[in-house]
Amino acid sequence: MLQPAPVPTAFDRLFIGGEFVMPVGGSGIESINPAVGKNWTSVAMAEARDVAAAVDAAQAAFRSGPWRKFTGVQRARLLEELARRIEADAETLALIDSTDNGKPIALCRLDAANADYWFRYFAGLADKLHGEQLPVTANDWAYTILEPLGVVAAIIPWNSPVLIAAWKLAPALAAGNTVVLKPSELAPASCLRLAELVRDAGFPPGVVNIVPGFGRTAGEALASHPAVAKISFTGSDATAKHLGAVAAQDFKSVTMECGGKAPFIVFPDADLGDAAAKAVGGMFVNAGQQCTVAARVLVHRKIFDDFTAQYLRQVAALGFGDPADPKNTAGAIVSEGQLARINRYLGIAKTEGAAILTGGPGYVPADPRLKDGYWVQPTVITGLGQQSSVCQDEIFGPVAVLQPFEDEDDAISQANATRYGLTSGVFTNDIRRAHRVASRLEAGIVWVNTYRRIVPGLPYGGVKNSGIGREGGIDALRAYTRTKSVIVDATP
Ligand code: NAD
Repeated sequence: MLQPAPVPTAFDRLFIGGEFVMPVGGSGIESINPAVGKNWTSVAMAEARDVAAAVDAAQAAFRSGPWRKFTGVQRARLLEELARRIEADAETLALIDSTDNGKPIALCRLDAANADYWFRYFAGLADKLHGEQLPVTANDWAYTILEPLGVVAAIIPWNSPVLIAAWKLAPALAAGNTVVLKPSELAPASCLRLAELVRDAGFPPGVVNIVPGFGRTAGEALASHPAVAKISFTGSDATAKHLGAVAAQDFKSVTMECGGKAPFIVFPDADLGDAAAKAVGGMFVNAGQQCTVAARVLVHRKIFDDFTAQYLRQVAALGFGDPADPKNTAGAIVSEGQLARINRYLGIAKTEGAAILTGGPGYVPADPRLKDGYWVQPTVITGLGQQSSVCQDEIFGPVAVLQPFEDEDDAISQANATRYGLTSGVFTNDIRRAHRVASRLEAGIVWVNTYRRIVPGLPYGGVKNSGIGREGGIDALRAYTRTKSVIVDATP
């Protein structure tokens, strides 16, 4: 196990205007494999000048390239071709991502398969986007056209690079936009492999441009560029708020997918074994570094002890460790900074008198090859109220808090006592209760007797500080268009 990814791609170039080019300033970074804490490859980093060139290429492709004249069917063919190439290349994409961000290979394979699925879904919608004929007056012909917006700036995080790139690229391209994608500086490599697939699929030059770079330089230059019509962002709510202010300068359209602190509610009539398995799977996936994780497990007091025992048994059975081992679903922590952040919250939990039932700080893997990597063992805490920062802040690590509730109202009030509202889980066998609770939860998605089911046809996104706009479904396609109204005087 633990072999570095084969590198069929040199990651030292940016993808601009259909070509792989060196960054103007020649900049790059050594990308770290977090499982071992060592560099594994170097990756090109765009500066503001490179970003400007990418936006120019995207704008030229939108305004005067062949892309603008493509029919929906022609765009669909290219999206399908890209999906086919992602399917064929899935193992390489997964290996690169797993090495670059410490995510278990089994999950990276799923990300690649889902990216393929996303492109196929939006290929199917590309020729079904249309406006309406409107009977507004007796003598006029009035109708609407759904137009693409122009250049889309797609800014994504490190935890699922290929999949989140697909969430942005697929609907934006299906609707006829051009895109500049900026992957995170922490896991940029797989998106440059994706760039090769985009080129080979035959997209006209400039339709997709991919420029890894740091947030404060490349990200800022991209978001604030006046030729960008939309910012489609996934990342922290702090960055999203800043980008919302940047977007307001030019009335750019936005989609913001931010973090969460999901409640996972277990009622006494639920199948406890099933609920415990899904709560643990939904929490420790990728060592808790997913926006959807079931971080606050709310359990009816009557079954709290029984459920806790089952939960801990599931945690003990988790596949945790070497990301290259296909049995594992919890791997390394992405960076030294993120490791320090998680340990800080574990310190706060101790100071506030919480009981750490398993896990805790200071874990060093037994495997000597992993000892310099960034690791936190799956940790389960009880004894904290909702007001604790451990319950309020998105830790983005393998830290679950178990809390009892008294009745349905108490469960809902605790579940909603957060500034976030991305996802939530409800486990009950009472169908009336399931619908009632789903309607009262402040979250973009409610999963009932299931967890983390994300499919391209289902709108996905948050309320409150978890974001604005939806990815997935027809909602996502429309979010990359604007409505033009046409009225023709047809009086004889
Ligand atoms: P982040 O906000 O630090 O960075 C996200 C992206 O924004 C990166 O590409 C970064 O370079 C860029 N960026 C940072 N500052 C910028 C600036 N000033 N201008 C322009 N771009 C800038 O988030 P992260 O640490 O990469 O990712 C973790 C966060 O992402 C968590 O909060 C997580 O919940 C969230 N997330 C949300 C979803 C979702 O679908 N809702 C999915 C995955 C991750």
